[in-house]
Amino acid sequence: MIVLVINAGSSSLKYQLLKVSTGQVVAKGGAERIGLPNAFVKHMGMDRDPVTLNFELPNHKVAVEAVLKVLTSEDNGVIKSMDEIDAVGHRVVHGGESFSSSALITPEVKKAIKGVYDLAPLHNPPNMTGIEACEEAMPSVPQVAVFDTAFHQTMPSKAYMYALPYEIYEKHGVRRYGFHGTSHGYVAKRAAEMLNKPLEKLKLITCHLGNGSSIAAIKYGKCIDTSMGLTPLAGICMGTRSGDIDPAIVTFLMNKEKLDAKGIDDLLNKKSGVMGISGVSSDFRDLYAAAGEGNKRASLALDMFKYQCRKYIGAYSAALGGIDAVIFTAGIGENTYDIRRGACEGLDYMGIQIDPYKNSAVKGREAEISTDDSSVKVLVVPTNEELAIAQETAKVVGFKI
Ligand code: AMP
Repeated sequence: MIVLVINAGSSSLKYQLLKVSTGQVVAKGGAERIGLPNAFVKHMGMDRDPVTLNFELPNHKVAVEAVLKVLTSEDNGVIKSMDEIDAVGHRVVHGGESFSSSALITPEVKKAIKGVYDLAPLHNPPNMTGIEACEEAMPSVPQVAVFDTAFHQTMPSKAYMYALPYEIYEKHGVRRYGFHGTSHGYVAKRAAEMLNKPLEKLKLITCHLGNGSSIAAIKYGKCIDTSMGLTPLAGICMGTRSGDIDPAIVTFLMNKEKLDAKGIDDLLNKKSGVMGISGVSSDFRDLYAAAGEGNKRASLALDMFKYQCRKYIGAYSAALGGIDAVIFTAGIGENTYDIRRGACEGLDYMGIQIDPYKNSAVKGREAEISTDDSSVKVLVVPTNEELAIAQETAKVVGFKI
């Protein structure tokens, strides 16, 4: 079965074409600068060099058509015709409370996605544009929505409610939703396979540490708590996002710095996190380089990040009542041994012991990095959100993997 995975942004549309049974990526790329001058499609067919092709892309529908044209073209194509695409899986950021699993796209499902536009104004509208563009371009191919929030819908109310007036939740849906759910679900499943134990018997903490970072507590395959909240701003500090802060800082800074709603939103989302602390970069490679040259603020940013990861691991161990494994994934979690070391430092008393030799040798590949006698296993599991979306899509349309 071949699935086209689409991740549509406001002016871009990333794609991957995957063979679900083997996980093989047949082609990947993206249409960029949609609706802008000098638009193009960057495309890479399996075992071929990437190519950049210029197109006029006035809207997402034309962008989808351009992608299909490239995928089936004589020069750069990887399939003979569009008919080889069995289904399309769409990444949809917010499913609100309506979706606890992926869904076949129907008029009702589209209405429900539109119903939560307010909760993800930057993401859900372009995601929908991608869906509608694919529906128009491929009317006979089933389309599936895979939500970032769905995996976290199993959280109990004591974990997802904020202690605000209850009516705020009822009126506006203000609660913890959590994000990166496709990734947390995928790495938890892979971890169970690596540990050779059923997921339904494991208590796991998954640390998705990338540009955006979130941590989840997963009990017997179900998420019971996660660090991101109503929006992806909450939790541990990130590339440019503050993570958890005293909520009173918002009004304090609005007064002191004369900021309006957009100003404070920009400050917390785009100018904070390790970028804001270090003044150097949001990229951890740059932070390590600067810290190596003696930049104290870069070192502080790294220390804060590790410390906050560690606090969440401790908190979620309490929430889970003990843990079987801690899993690191995403750009930082997969590649940076020092963050993994720091996030688990001093947690021997909880049975978490990283083997420094194993840990420092692991970059971007699956591995167990705990000592042989560590009662809690520590794993690195590269995430693969596209494959997870393709697998979900196959499941929804009834294809057995
Ligand atoms: P992601 O959002 O998952 O793509 O992760 C992005 C972040 O991962 C970047 O900001 C980098 O700090 C970090 N990262 C990615 N690749 C590496 C690498 N090879 N070594 C160290 N850090 C990396």
